[in-house]
Amino acid sequence: MRGLSLRGVAKVYPGGVTAVEGITLDFPEGELTALLGPSGCGKTTLLRMIAGLETPSAGRILLDGRDITAEAAHVRRFGMVFQSFALFPHLSVAENVAYSLAIAGAPKAERRAKAERLLDLVQLSGYGDRRIGALSGGQRQRVAIARALAQEPSVFLLDEPMSALDAKLREEMQVELRLLQQRLGITTIVVTHDQREAMTMADSIVVMSQGAAEQVGPPQTVYAHPATAFVAGFIGKANFLNGEVRDGAAHALGGVFRPATPAPFRCGSPVTIACRPEAVRLSRAPRAETNSVRAEISFVRDIGPTCEIHLVAAGARMTAELGHADRESFAMGEQVWAEWPPEALRLYPREAA
Ligand code: ATP
Repeated sequence: MRGLSLRGVAKVYPGGVTAVEGITLDFPEGELTALLGPSGCGKTTLLRMIAGLETPSAGRILLDGRDITAEAAHVRRFGMVFQSFALFPHLSVAENVAYSLAIAGAPKAERRAKAERLLDLVQLSGYGDRRIGALSGGQRQRVAIARALAQEPSVFLLDEPMSALDAKLREEMQVELRLLQQRLGITTIVVTHDQREAMTMADSIVVMSQGAAEQVGPPQTVYAHPATAFVAGFIGKANFLNGEVRDGAAHALGGVFRPATPAPFRCGSPVTIACRPEAVRLSRAPRAETNSVRAEISFVRDIGPTCEIHLVAAGARMTAELGHADRESFAMGEQVWAEWPPEALRLYPREAA
């Protein structure tokens, strides 16, 4: 396969911390893959092993089918951008961008020409002579990207590249970086704990938890069909109820919840029932015998384009997110019926507490 592949790659740090458990994954050539997961799940460790900055305890790393596991970082020459950008403050913008070329002994005129081309690519034409200290956060990030691209890497690795930027700039840079990556067609891996960032930029998302890849797939597939309750809660929002399977349906809060596709659970199995807030429907009278619970509105939060309605049903909390057309005049303290439609309902095995 062309692109980067991991075969059973694991990392146990001295002292016995298992950061990554035997991960097997393919990063196809020209695609952007996001490694997404909560703090401590092993994203950075995995990226550092790919970069050659950390040695795997087990497994193999392949580039276009060639085993590069034992290759040093400077031989791999992958482009890297870190959270801190790590720019050289005593060098100008152009000198930062052309740093790797200077190390390789490229003539000054060539370095200058290449720096200008790359600065143009990241929309910083004319900034070559500036000091790093005279740039905004977003501009620094672009310099870091241009510097990483200077050595024409076959693989581009970014570790939380937007985390130092404010929310608005972060969203702009996500789009810019994605467009640049698509234009260059460079195999790219981005580490992030921000699911919106992953969904904005990635062809494919790897959701990681406790050193393992829980689910891999295109953003919309992972969002619409989360493989586990963890993924359902991590990508987007989800309501969860504890239930038990009887007669092919899940029983919870005194009601019956039946998914569109019967879940293969034995009678008596404890399950987690999940439903996205935007799929929950509210009504003042029950519309169906199943998949519906009586609930009290505990809070109404109008957040511009949508309205978030917080509910309590037999002690369980849940949220419905309604478009303005469906909002009607639901008010705090009102008793309503919350319906979890069968096609939006997912059942997952419930771990013993
Ligand atoms: P974050 O989003 O907080 O950066 P992460 O998903 O990138 O987290 P890692 O930094 O890869 O996670 O860490 C994974 C696990 O390995 C954590 O439990 C961490 O404490 C541990 N770890 C990381 N680096 C080392 C190290 N050098 N020595 C020992 N343990 C480490």
